[in-house]
Amino acid sequence: MEIEANIRAIIEKIDPNNDGVEKTPERVARSYEEFFSGYNVDIYNIANTFYDSEMKDLIMLENIPFESNCEHHLVPIIGTASVGYIPNGKIIGASKLARIVDCFAHRLQLQERMTIEIGKALEAILNPAGVGVYIKAEHFCISHRGVKKHGSKFVTRYFSGALKDSLRQEFLATVMAG
Ligand SMILES: [Zn+2]
Repeated sequence: MEIEANIRAIIEKIDPNNDGVEKTPERVARSYEEFFSGYNVDIYNIANTFYDSEMKDLIMLENIPFESNCEHHLVPIIGTASVGYIPNGKIIGASKLARIVDCFAHRLQLQERMTIEIGKALEAILNPAGVGVYIKAEHFCISHRGVKKHGSKFVTRYFSGALKDSLRQEFLATVMAG
C-alpha cells in the first residue's frame, strides 16, 4: 500500500537503525484510514431520516468532541463543536448532528473551512430558518511546534438566517453557559 511505503521511507529518514518500528507503517496507514474516513461520506446518507416538527426555536447539540488534522502540518486539531439550527418544518435526530461534524473532521482540515462546511451541510440537508456553528479547538501546530502556545484555543463561528440576526446572542449565550 502506498501510504505504508511512504511512511516507511519517512521513518527510515528519521531513525534508520530502529528495529522497533517494523509494523509502524502498517499501523499508521490503518490510523489514517480512520482519520481520513470523511471523504467519501454522503451527508445526505448520514441524515436521511427526518421528522415533521412544529418546533420553531433553537435546537442545539453542544460540545461535540472531535478530532481532525491540520492540512498545513498534518498534526491534530482537537476540540469541540456546538451545532444548532432553527427548524423549518423538519428536524433530524441529534446524533446526526454529531455524525455531520465527524464527517468533516475526518479530513485534512482548516478549522475555518470545516466550520463553514458543517453550516452549509445543515442548510442543504434541512433547509432550516437558521444555522449556527461554534468550534473551539487546540491546534497542535500552535501548541506543540512553532510558537508553542499550549492551551490556546482557536474559535470559529458560522451563522446564517435567523441565527445571524436576532437569535445569534442566544446561541452564543447557550454555548458560553456550557
Ligand atoms: Zn497547522
